[in-house]
Amino acid sequence: MANRYTATAAVRQGIESDTQHGAVVPPLYLSTNYSFSDHLSPRAFDYSRSGNPTRCLLAEALTELEHGAGAVVTATGMAAITLVTSLLTPEQLLIIPHDCYGGSYRLFTHLAAKGHFQLKVIDQTDAAAIDAALTLQPAMFWLETPSNPLLRIVDIAAIAHKLKETDSLLVVDNTFLSPVLQQPLLLGADIVVHSTTKYINGHSDVVGGAVIAKDAAIADKLNWWSNTLGLTGGAFDSYLTLRGLRTLSVRMRQHQENCQAVVALLQQSTAVSQIHFPGLSSHPGHSIAVRQQQGFGAMVSFELKGGQAQLTRFLSELKFFSLAESLGGVESLVAIPATMTHRAMDPEARRLAGISDNLIRLSIGIEDPRDLVADLSHALAVASGLEE
Ligand code: PLP
Repeated sequence: MANRYTATAAVRQGIESDTQHGAVVPPLYLSTNYSFSDHLSPRAFDYSRSGNPTRCLLAEALTELEHGAGAVVTATGMAAITLVTSLLTPEQLLIIPHDCYGGSYRLFTHLAAKGHFQLKVIDQTDAAAIDAALTLQPAMFWLETPSNPLLRIVDIAAIAHKLKETDSLLVVDNTFLSPVLQQPLLLGADIVVHSTTKYINGHSDVVGGAVIAKDAAIADKLNWWSNTLGLTGGAFDSYLTLRGLRTLSVRMRQHQENCQAVVALLQQSTAVSQIHFPGLSSHPGHSIAVRQQQGFGAMVSFELKGGQAQLTRFLSELKFFSLAESLGGVESLVAIPATMTHRAMDPEARRLAGISDNLIRLSIGIEDPRDLVADLSHALAVASGLEE
């Protein structure tokens, strides 16, 4: 396959691949099983847990977009993360960030407690903490950048450089940016993980995940484990995700344009005390984001002045932001990490990660930005008019 730009690869994956009828869009293969030519000769596919033509097309597309050697499409983002942890043995050490997605944190801490691997949780924006962790010879180093929900940025290339002379695998959860805005394997990572539930599918109607490996041997190992553990994704989900993927580039453009308008409003608002957005020059990770990302994404979190009364009023005034978990869909969402996405972390872990009870996270959709700005502006004004 000739090299092609991201938008072209995302649109054209599987187009005109049907040799039977010449269907332009690749057909959906729902069959559980595939006949053998004879009992000694399986075809390319035999059983859909092990391999499915529709899921295979999606895996190939993600491999190309992330510049990997192979990928596994999984049933959920958490299945993708579980799959990567299956590479670890009980004596091996995994390093994770203290402010990753709450569900990832829950999985890592509970698997470690059961003895699946050793675990160390660190603040990955602290260079000394990273260096100290590296002296422990970790088998795997897990990054989430930008992180969920505080949009902290970690320098992928710098950590890859430090791990260069070791056997440690560098894994990056790239869910918040998608391969349109960040390609961790080109920056030295070994494995990329996605919750395709978010931007890649983009329409909030599929839960799915993917793991993409730089090295073919690791991709093979992940494929073996995904079949053995039964973590692979369904055919219909893969079909919908491929459909979503075709518009990923244009969606990301509009998501980001809308997010810039929202951030400009938050900056002007006297009701807001703190904004976490890597596109602001005041953000501690701004210069790294400029270097390693092709855009700042469309997630922003902020804190309102005041307390729970202001927060409750702000939420109740919003019309165009649904109060819901998840992110990356065409529709705008608002979430309170402490009681929603990150409630799986205990209060002390949230405090250490800097996730306050008043933190608000927005996933900016692709509606008309004028409606989003007007809606937020109204809710902020009403909330800030309240007595404390
Ligand atoms: N990684 C990140 C950064 C997430 O935000 C999420 C879910 O919110 C996941 C992984 C888990 O994905 P899923 O919900 O598809 O299992």
